[in-house]
Amino acid sequence: MTAQKIDGKAIAAALRGRIGDAVSALDKAHGKKPGLAVVLVGEDAASQVYVKNKGIATKEAGMTSLEFRLPADTPEAVLLEQVDALNNDSAVNGILVQFPVPEQMSQQKIIDRINPAKDVDGLNPLNAGRLVSGLSALTPCTPTGSVILAKETLGDLSGKHAVVIGRSNLVGKPVAQLLLNENCTVTLAHSRTADLPAMCRQADILVAAVGIAELVKGDWIKPGACVIDVGINRIDAPERGLDDEGKGKTRLVGDVDFAAASEVAAHITPVPGGVGPMTIACLLKNTLTAFCRQNGFEQPPL
Ligand code: NAP
Repeated sequence: MTAQKIDGKAIAAALRGRIGDAVSALDKAHGKKPGLAVVLVGEDAASQVYVKNKGIATKEAGMTSLEFRLPADTPEAVLLEQVDALNNDSAVNGILVQFPVPEQMSQQKIIDRINPAKDVDGLNPLNAGRLVSGLSALTPCTPTGSVILAKETLGDLSGKHAVVIGRSNLVGKPVAQLLLNENCTVTLAHSRTADLPAMCRQADILVAAVGIAELVKGDWIKPGACVIDVGINRIDAPERGLDDEGKGKTRLVGDVDFAAASEVAAHITPVPGGVGPMTIACLLKNTLTAFCRQNGFEQPPL
């Protein structure tokens, strides 16, 4: 079997297009558009790229993008004051503090401080609790995007056995909860799981969110499974030679051995180009939802 590649780039672009249409319809009807504020502390190179890309996508969707850059030595109290100001600013519907933050700051304190109604990262304990309780919630972006990919590929997920590897608050736990809400039977695996390969072989839907390059081998996959690879790992690529600075080139791989798994699965996400593009699309989706709820507008279906 050669698996069909799930085109996350195309699915994300289509979702961003539908969000853009909804934003423009709401602006026409009410003369208002959603505002997303992103706060970046420090100079982390990867974070700067993420924040830039988020800003571009926000503007492309017709939303207002606000960026706040603070120096790496900013005291925690100053960042929390910034969060308070954004919580109180009616032009800001969504707030995202780019993680990781410098070590003098507590990530959890920041998450706790963001108004849950504006928590477009979906990490505030109130939103996490509402998700578990089956109530409407802003849900974390990468997990939401992962489940959208599975639904776009398979349709109704009811009754499918989903195995999620990884139990972080950021990815594994919310993915498991979202799949449970789709009526999957969910197994949540982690570093202490006994006989992980045998567990994975039972999965109709296998979600890997571990952070270990190509951990999941081809013979861990149930024939015909749908594989969603959330992992992003940079590895050496000696076959690509040297870059301009004479350093060995690298490449990105997921948590799944893509070539081997493609021989067994029916559907699989590539890395890059699978789950990654869905994250920003779901951030915009959450910003639209937050905007509609804060203003009492009915959200157009996406
Ligand atoms: P994390 O917080 O480090 O959590 C990793 C999880 O994997 C933990 O629950 C850990 O188990 C489990 N684990 C570690 N080694 C294992 C093993 N040998 N067997 C089974 N489980 C094992 O990572 P994360 O934030 O969830 O991110 C996971 C991956 O997703 C990373 O590669 C990250 O870069 C990627 N990611 C991608 C996106 C995107 O946009 N595509 C967004 C976020 C993250 P324990 O709990 O037992 O330690």
